[in-house]
Amino acid sequence: MDRRDFLSTAGSLLVGGAAMSFLGGCTNPFTPSSLKAGKIKESYQTQVLVLGGGPAGVCAAIAAARQGVKVMIVEQGGALGGMATLGVVAPFMTCYDTTGEQMIIKGIFEEIVDRMVALGGALHPSGIRHTTCYSAWITAGHDHLTPFDAETMKYVLDTMCAEAGVKVLFHANFVNSVLSGNKAVGAVILTKGGLEAVKADIVIDCTGDGDYAARAGAPTEFGNPRTGRVQPSTLFFHINNVDSRQVERNVESKLHTFHKRDGVSHRALHWHVLKAVENGDWDIARRSVNIYKGVRDDEWAVNTTRIARVDATNSEDLTRGEIEGRRQVKMVMDFFHKYVPGCKNATLKCTGSTLGIRESRHILGEYILQVEDLLNGVVTDDAILVASNSVDVHGRLSDNSTEYITVQNGRWSGVPYSTLVPQGVENLLVAGRALSATSDAAGAVRVMPPCMAMGQAAGVAAALAVKGSTTPRNIDPTHLRKVLLENGVFLG
Ligand SMILES: Cc1cc2nc3c(=O)[nH]c(=O)nc-3n(C[C@H](O)[C@H](O)[C@H](O)COP(=O)(O)OP(=O)(O)OC[C@H]3O[C@@H](n4cnc5c(N)ncnc54)[C@H](O)[C@@H]3O)c2cc1C
Repeated sequence: MDRRDFLSTAGSLLVGGAAMSFLGGCTNPFTPSSLKAGKIKESYQTQVLVLGGGPAGVCAAIAAARQGVKVMIVEQGGALGGMATLGVVAPFMTCYDTTGEQMIIKGIFEEIVDRMVALGGALHPSGIRHTTCYSAWITAGHDHLTPFDAETMKYVLDTMCAEAGVKVLFHANFVNSVLSGNKAVGAVILTKGGLEAVKADIVIDCTGDGDYAARAGAPTEFGNPRTGRVQPSTLFFHINNVDSRQVERNVESKLHTFHKRDGVSHRALHWHVLKAVENGDWDIARRSVNIYKGVRDDEWAVNTTRIARVDATNSEDLTRGEIEGRRQVKMVMDFFHKYVPGCKNATLKCTGSTLGIRESRHILGEYILQVEDLLNGVVTDDAILVASNSVDVHGRLSDNSTEYITVQNGRWSGVPYSTLVPQGVENLLVAGRALSATSDAAGAVRVMPPCMAMGQAAGVAAALAVKGSTTPRNIDPTHLRKVLLENGVFLG
């Protein structure tokens, strides 16, 4: 496709993928003339375009670039890491098998962890066990977590992308897909300079919400179609200046009172939450506080606010979620100061610069991962990672319910390559939490270590497709697995 064809494609597909002129037939007098198709600058050309620089996207970009192809990553924020940095979500969930004996998510994930540990910005998961302050004293599915510091992660990811030769573009929003027939050939992005086009051989959608796939017309499902719900969102925050010994003593003296009633967990600090509820000081749909001790002794990550029914593809909903999240953070801070021994002088270190979204779109891929596959420990011939994360579903039974169902048959289960290959659109891969999985299955593999492993696999697959002049759908998964193994990935 030559330059003029590409630009006319970019212009013709900006509205919902339909073949119409840009803002077809729109007579709105407020439409800026710069939005006309001819004004979109074709600024970039790359072989692999990664949209979204979260855990999946950054690993996809590094993996593809290390295979020797030209890679560009487009991120709407000002740092790589997605939820891990912009959302201050921590720690990394387990990267070990169900017995807690073997690290099974390795590859680029392990490199990132090792670099952060060397910089004093993470604690190695080998020493972090379940039922401790580092796992919010949770047992199921919470063995060998990785506490880490978001600022260290930003630095490490910048460094690794630079070393691999990835072209990074921050403050750039993906706006629309550019297709030739049913083939992805690039994207339109919105930068400080206006609308710009990126021409690409292969696109990897790591936006978390399957934005590219949806705009390109690939079939998707939203949340759980059976219940009509998505998992609730949470504004994550961190506190410091905590007398951690006091907190630990208080919780550890009450571990025997942890219980679940009607699907609702009563875990750390539930005895204080109960009092706060009685006093009218607590109105969050959770009955305990998930506090994870961080890298530094006085710091904790707090995963407790809960905002139901946020549609992450709708800015009105996101705005409501951010504001309600901050209201809840203020309430939990007041709760810490008033009720929790050791937290009288706690300070709010930071809130996420973006609301934490657990679930939105799931693409429908060549295969749709099922919860039974995970629980039965199924590892297919095209598995591109193995993981043991429990099916972690929030809010399925009620707004304040939480469920953890662990792999029951084996030490791990696989994620097939075919879950990254969307139906209907060629030259497109989707990695991260929007993979092709039922809502419940996605509840297990949406956590950061498997998302990073998915990203690594998608990056290698895209590079193999470019180098073999074929499509991601047609690459040989056996060859893909061989390259992943050569690059330190564990496949069971
Ligand atoms: C509240 C909460 C708690 C969690 N707890 C844990 C936990 O304790 N441990 C764990 O391991 N996992 C946890 N998770 C899961 C995990 O954080 C996410 O599922 C994971 O980060 C998904 O990775 P991703 O790369 O697919 O998406 P994301 O991390 O969401 O990254 C997507 C990236 O794409 C960018 N982007 C999106 N749209 C566009 C666009 N249109 N243009 C340009 N850029 C775009 C975003 O800015 C972001 O950087 C939690 C998630 C939430 C929300």
